[in-house]
Amino acid sequence: MIPAWKDIQNTLCRKCIDGDGSGRCRLPVDEECALQRSFLQVVQTIQRVNSSNFDDYALALRRDVCASCMYQDAAGMCQRRDHLECALDRYFPLVIEIIEKELETT
Ligand code: SF4
Ligand code: SF4
Repeated sequence: MIPAWKDIQNTLCRKCIDGDGSGRCRLPVDEECALQRSFLQVVQTIQRVNSSNFDDYALALRRDVCASCMYQDAAGMCQRRDHLECALDRYFPLVIEIIEKELETT
């Protein structure tokens, strides 16, 4: 099954330090969650990798998502990543787990 954003809201957002504990996001209005903004791209990336090696997913994340993210600079650096402010990067193993589980559901 193709994962939906609500699958993330019902699981990861409830645990996210930027959430209110019940799935609602508490990021300031002028900040965007990179996971939410790039959700479809994240799903497609994880679906494409399909590996038992986490490094393959991490590499694909940097190449397919971070490379087109407004928070990454021309040198490939990201202040949000460096300060653990990106939920996608912070919870990436859990994101993989949630999305892979949904993809396996027929
Ligand atoms: S920052 Fe992203 S993952 Fe965290 S609660 Fe907000 S929308 Fe969910
Ligand atoms: S780690 Fe940085 S560049 Fe990558 S998705 Fe998150 S905010 Fe964007």
